[in-house]
Amino acid sequence: MPEPKLKEKRWSQNLEATLFKKWQDEKLYGQENMKEGPVFVVDTPPPYPSGRWHVGGALHFCQIDMISRYFRMKEKNLWFPVGIDRNGLPIESRVEKDFGIKAHEVPREEFLKKCRETLNKYESNISNIMNLTGLSVDWSKVYRTDSPKYRTLTQSTFIELWNKGLIYEDTKPNNWCPGCKTTLADAEVEYRSQKGKLVFINFKLKEGGVIQIATTRPELLGACQAITVHPTGSAYSKEIGKTALVPIYGREVKIIGREETNPEFGTGAMMVCSYGDQEDVKMFREFSLPETIIIDEAGKMTKAAGKYEGLSAKDAKKAIIEDLKSQGFIEKIDEVDQNIPICWRSKDDIELIALPEYYLKQVDFVDDVKKISDDIEFHPEKSRQLLLDWLGAVNQDWPISRRRFYGTPVPIFNCGEHGKFVPEPGKYYETWNMTLPCPKCNKPAKGDTRVLDTWMDSSISALWVSGFKRDEKFFKRSFPTFLRPQGKDIVRTWLYYTLLRVYHATGKKAFNHVWISGHIVDKKGFKMSKSIGNVVYPEPLIEKYGADSLRFFSASEAKLGSDIRVSEERIAGAAKFIQKLYNVSRFISMFSDSKKPEKLEPADKWILSELGKLTRLATRGYDDMDLFIPANEVRTFVWEKFAPHYIEMVKGRAYDGDESARYTLHTVLRQVLKLLSPISPFITDYVYRKLYEKTLQFENFDSFEENQSLPTTKLIEFNESVWAKKKAENLSLRDEVALKVPERLQAYEKDLIKMHNLRQ
Ligand SMILES: [Zn+2]
Ligand SMILES: [Zn+2]
Repeated sequence: MPEPKLKEKRWSQNLEATLFKKWQDEKLYGQENMKEGPVFVVDTPPPYPSGRWHVGGALHFCQIDMISRYFRMKEKNLWFPVGIDRNGLPIESRVEKDFGIKAHEVPREEFLKKCRETLNKYESNISNIMNLTGLSVDWSKVYRTDSPKYRTLTQSTFIELWNKGLIYEDTKPNNWCPGCKTTLADAEVEYRSQKGKLVFINFKLKEGGVIQIATTRPELLGACQAITVHPTGSAYSKEIGKTALVPIYGREVKIIGREETNPEFGTGAMMVCSYGDQEDVKMFREFSLPETIIIDEAGKMTKAAGKYEGLSAKDAKKAIIEDLKSQGFIEKIDEVDQNIPICWRSKDDIELIALPEYYLKQVDFVDDVKKISDDIEFHPEKSRQLLLDWLGAVNQDWPISRRRFYGTPVPIFNCGEHGKFVPEPGKYYETWNMTLPCPKCNKPAKGDTRVLDTWMDSSISALWVSGFKRDEKFFKRSFPTFLRPQGKDIVRTWLYYTLLRVYHATGKKAFNHVWISGHIVDKKGFKMSKSIGNVVYPEPLIEKYGADSLRFFSASEAKLGSDIRVSEERIAGAAKFIQKLYNVSRFISMFSDSKKPEKLEPADKWILSELGKLTRLATRGYDDMDLFIPANEVRTFVWEKFAPHYIEMVKGRAYDGDESARYTLHTVLRQVLKLLSPISPFITDYVYRKLYEKTLQFENFDSFEENQSLPTTKLIEFNESVWAKKKAENLSLRDEVALKVPERLQAYEKDLIKMHNLRQ
């Protein structure tokens, strides 16, 4: 028996860390290794370090790494940067919880410091997992969205938008989360369906009689300023112009005719309050009604609610229904299905509150964003619809200021006398903590105390990674970026906002490809959450099975766009395949490689043709960014063709030193390692370096001709029939058996006789 070149008997995941260190020492993923010409930049999703990373985050990045590794092999100049998103509410909530403090109640500088320290702690957990899983990111240029440099870019783009008149300040009712104590953009609003009460209330008319309205928000009665009915289509149309008395409060309100009031809904009469929903907002503007703030920023009833002041909106609703009942104002209460707007982060009910905020114009640009997105390839193509649906729903401008703390400060200064102004772009302004001389009177003007919506930062990641305003030469080579990989849950936010912001800044599309993945869920298909207790962490799985196995699992488990159910049994299955690949490699490592002989034996030609087919299918999958295809094609090839059929057939020749067999064994192994390298980079690079003395991470796939006329199925069927016969006759695989090689397989006769010990 020849000595195998691969000394270790089994693949061990302990080899992964050493190899990862080697890659870092060799600086494989930096820009210094790139040739001239265009650079393919991945617009990496910067993860948010506000808690321990679960397996979902890890697998998501593994998949992005696989795509990056494939295109690096194919195009060479692929750059996979890494960023960390560190602005915004999640870290503030985390710090409030961890330290038992309230952001509004401690000095701002002290609170920001705690945020920074907590971010650092969780960031090191994320970067550790990124390294354990073998990501081919460039750590030499890691960016953080809260660094003064990054925030300078956010502020500079703000200042330019302001100067172009695309940002304005306005006081209009907006989504307000009482839990997070901040304004939310429409993109951050989710809906929860629930059973609600539709309350039918009788309003007395000053002129005599009653008008009945149906409402799900009786707690807003104190802010009721009008009643609308359809001008002609309702039984109440004749009451238009009369005056109704608001129950409990006794205030007089007008009955107004309005085309949009649906005579079929409820009683056909609607009360108009500030603010039940966006429709109320419209009506207040339309009829110039006086606005009453009845719910405050904490979600509590204000003075305007009278005796209900201080109650939460929910409790006020209960109390007022009781009072209306006892005073005889309620006709009836129906149960209805409701869609309640809630905060996407804290899940609190959203209220509409009018506060002055800055807005970025987006309604006027929906068509432009749609047009540039037509020129972007989506993977899978059907995920394009998620963006189109959202574009169809955008109907007001984006509120971009937040009354929070840990974010990029709004770069606006206010001279009491001469109004607001923006400073010069290109510098970082900690506005809340500074003044600038007013350009008109030179007196110190105060900086704005608000911060920007964190999506204002993350939506320029594509500009940051391509060097916009920082490295014009690199920007020319790399913009638009090559790829935006992301989850489907942030299409309305990160994807859409990036397209909008980059269009505002450059007039162009931000990227050429968008890859949208499904969710990573538990083995029963449920979202992982700490409160349910079904969270899976990646570190123990990596320790037990190795990163390559985890990665192979994530690629082979689900079609692109589908959810991946994390199951330890399936990961263990992937680990078996990785071991199988090692065993095959070790076997082949017994034989020395050979250059291509002039004439190849038929069995060798056959497997090379099968390798051609495998390469074609795997390449197509990789090009579509659907990792499911290459992972499964390679596994099937190795496990069901190459190892059991081909290797068994040519073993004999290989031991005899046959050139054709040795050449083919190594050629197939080299190609299989390359095909699997993006998915399981550790074992493939390890074996390739041992046998072929260099890394395979920059090697192209080889191409092989396919010959459709070869009898693959026949060959497999014949082998299986021989094994079955030996089993039935209680013979070992080495035992001789009398069996003729079929006519169609004559070309392989010599190999088959040796393989099965056939007696002719
Ligand atoms: Zn919230
Ligand atoms: Zn001034």
